Amino acid sequence: MKVVTTAAELRQEVALQKAAGRVIGFVPTMGALHSGHVSLVDKSLNDNCFTVSSIFVNPTQFNDKNDLKNYPRMPEKDIALLEERGVNLVFTPSVAEIYPEEDSRIFDFGSIDKVMEGAKRPGHFNGVAQVVSKLFDIVQPDKAYFGEKDFQQIAIIKDMVKQLKLKVEIIPCPIVRDSDGLALSSRNMLLNPAQRNSAPLIYRALSNAQKQERSTSISALNQMVVHEINADNELDVEYFDIVDADTLQSVSSWDESSNIYGCIAVKVGAIRLIDNIRLK
Ligand code: AMP
Repeated sequence: MKVVTTAAELRQEVALQKAAGRVIGFVPTMGALHSGHVSLVDKSLNDNCFTVSSIFVNPTQFNDKNDLKNYPRMPEKDIALLEERGVNLVFTPSVAEIYPEEDSRIFDFGSIDKVMEGAKRPGHFNGVAQVVSKLFDIVQPDKAYFGEKDFQQIAIIKDMVKQLKLKVEIIPCPIVRDSDGLALSSRNMLLNPAQRNSAPLIYRALSNAQKQERSTSISALNQMVVHEINADNELDVEYFDIVDADTLQSVSSWDESSNIYGCIAVKVGAIRLIDNIRLK
């Protein structure tokens, strides 16, 4: 496995592979890798002849400076894990390599980034689009893999690919969870023992919501989930939105859409966790 730090080296390496007719799969990450990331890597390895993964903590998508400062970083361990899985090429650029000058591009995602994470983390998805478009430009992947844990991010990236008329196919991958149901996240390692103990309630409440009869109204279900999670002193629901999976806009009745998701963000002390579940 090769590890490269510059865009020029990466372009050269990928060009060689493309010339040999190899199909390129790409898994962008911010590192501190866990089994969720590994599931994306394994899918890419299975689908493509050549898999590239990147480790880059992108400053432009952090609206909270402390979150950026505290974000876990362990590149050596990550690289060893990627090598063990059989990844072909890892890209670990510096901030200056990705942003030799400030990226002033402003994307317009219409209504899909005005809700949920977009509303609570101003500028977040613009930063995501900046970095992912730059990485796509450098890697030129045929397929790119993203986790459904970041449900809204997938919608944003699909929209960006459409706007920029890119050829890459976006492959959504299912959420990987710990044995107690907590969605794996690099931020989980920042939780103290009491917080970690409480966090699985997020998925329990979502699962309970999924089991409710359709006679329960959307608003009653919403209140039920918020109430159940907020009853735990360690947890504070920031939003719970029951939305149409394509438009990401809230629905007020079960008949409004055939594909309905519940998307949640919960504050656990200074840490924010997100999760989602299909409700219809
Ligand atoms: P991150 O390193 O947090 O930027 O995540 C890199 C990729 O891994 C994104 O596409 C995430 O959606 C995905 N990912 C993170 N956590 C999980 C998980 N628990 N299950 C599946 N995919 C995940």
